[in-house]
Amino acid sequence: MKNALSILTVPAFDDNYLWIIHDGQHAAVVDPGDASPILEALAAHQLVLSAILLTHHHADHIGGVIPLLAHAAVPVFGPAKDQISSVSRPLHQDEQITVPGINLNLSVVEVPGHTLGHIAYFAPKQHWLFCGDTLFAGGCGRIFEGTPEQMLHSLDKLAALPDDTTIYCAHEYTMSNLKFAQEIEPSNPDLISRIEREQHKRNLGIPTVPSQMLLEKQTNPFLRSRNADVVQRLFAAGKISARQNEIENFAALREWKNHFR
Ligand code: ZN
Ligand code: FE
Repeated sequence: MKNALSILTVPAFDDNYLWIIHDGQHAAVVDPGDASPILEALAAHQLVLSAILLTHHHADHIGGVIPLLAHAAVPVFGPAKDQISSVSRPLHQDEQITVPGINLNLSVVEVPGHTLGHIAYFAPKQHWLFCGDTLFAGGCGRIFEGTPEQMLHSLDKLAALPDDTTIYCAHEYTMSNLKFAQEIEPSNPDLISRIEREQHKRNLGIPTVPSQMLLEKQTNPFLRSRNADVVQRLFAAGKISARQNEIENFAALREWKNHFR
């Protein structure tokens, strides 16, 4: 039966989440790094695959595309600038798409940084965001191809989305992200209560993803790099000298996280 759209969380590998968006009959899959858990979930819910959506070119996000296409020849949406050979519908900033098979409109947000072509998909009606490895619960992706300036600008674009946006990111990195966040803002009350809630979920084996934009703005240091307390912490820890600009501050924060255990 055709229903309102809902989303299935499909865990894969050690810590990836693949997302299935469906209406009870047809389904689109976001970032299928592995085909077998997707095929199992489609079978279990009696869903017909109608589209594939990709955020960036890394193997843990696209590895299942070829086997899925062998199963069903569906359109593959993806970033024009990441040059993924299986993409049949290359996308650019501000493009609006209607996902085949399901009644879902998405707008494309280019978010370079983790990769140069990385895109995110925002559903303006549902306020859903599929952001791959750009914004994580409590953190952000590593800057592999872009610059800190690009990543900061990309995160600014996502943070400009509505506060009630539900954030479907691609990895369960939350507790290690929040451990770093605590190092940055040890007395942030929103962060303290969040850590307790998320740890409780992990103890029960429940995903901490999806997250919500307001919570990220309150607790994610990478959305708070202009906050005076965050800048002061970077300075106190010797990560920046007194007068740096916001890009250098953000870069120092990301660099600190890269080496943080
Ligand atoms: Zn990636
Ligand atoms: Fe990834």
